[in-house]
Amino acid sequence: MSNLNSPHFQNEEAAREYLEKLRWPSGAVCPHCGVIGTAYTTKRGKYRCAEKECRKDFSVTIGTVYERSHIPLHKWLLATYLLCSSKKGISSHQLHRTLGVTYKSAWFMTHRIREAMAPHGELPPLGGKGKTVEADETYVGGKEKNKHAKDRKHLGRGGVGKEVVVSLVERGGKVRSHHVQHVTAATLRPVLNEQLHADSRLMTDEARLYIPLGKAFAEHHAVNHGIGEYVRGDAHTNTIEGYFSIFKRGMTGVYQHCSADHLKRYLAEFDFRYNSREGLGVDDAARTEIALKGIEGKRLTYRRTAA
Ligand SMILES: [Zn+2]
Repeated sequence: MSNLNSPHFQNEEAAREYLEKLRWPSGAVCPHCGVIGTAYTTKRGKYRCAEKECRKDFSVTIGTVYERSHIPLHKWLLATYLLCSSKKGISSHQLHRTLGVTYKSAWFMTHRIREAMAPHGELPPLGGKGKTVEADETYVGGKEKNKHAKDRKHLGRGGVGKEVVVSLVERGGKVRSHHVQHVTAATLRPVLNEQLHADSRLMTDEARLYIPLGKAFAEHHAVNHGIGEYVRGDAHTNTIEGYFSIFKRGMTGVYQHCSADHLKRYLAEFDFRYNSREGLGVDDAARTEIALKGIEGKRLTYRRTAA
């Protein structure tokens, strides 16, 4: 899978066969009625459901983020692999040059692939008994002269012209990031309460607003960065800061123009890679397969709304 010379990265037919094998290990699944293994082939890559009430036609990309695209499937697979295996992401300009598709197509593809990377449905809370979760905020975008605006966060404002991201990371586990309007107890409380198990041990910096929020959890420890305290026993926020540093290097180095509207998608991308990282035993090939399994189910909702 990781070899860029693999046939499914080079040839459309091989790409279709590869994706069919991955998505349909027990035979073709009709995306219209959900019946597995009864469809028959009408021509290469085209299937017809054999169920009496259905009888609809489909292919392996129907009901996925690749649906209704003129871009050859092997280019989709390659784009997905590149986005999954590049630690800081890959720009649409780079993808446009690498794949030989237009910039517009590359932009469209990366956003579709981010949909595949985004979580599917409700996720169980992070943490739990004996587990430690770090929470912190960071700022994205805005002007260079305002880069120290983070100092004002304790007044309950966002940075000047910047977007606020709040992330929670379970040590040795997963991260979850949220775009919020401002940093206040009112915006952070629902994030923490919904995403974090009440039995967790919570670690934050000593932003005053975390004090009342921390009471909802088994333990809350805060380090006071303001007076130069970064670690006290196992109280620290180094894990979440490590995550933010990858995210920020990607956002400033690769994705230079990210509007507030799209920030959520970029967060899904960085969260996805972190949550399927090498340290958890997932290599580039396996990470790409996880994303490929996430391509389904997104277009279906789209089509219903459009109808
Ligand atoms: Zn069917």
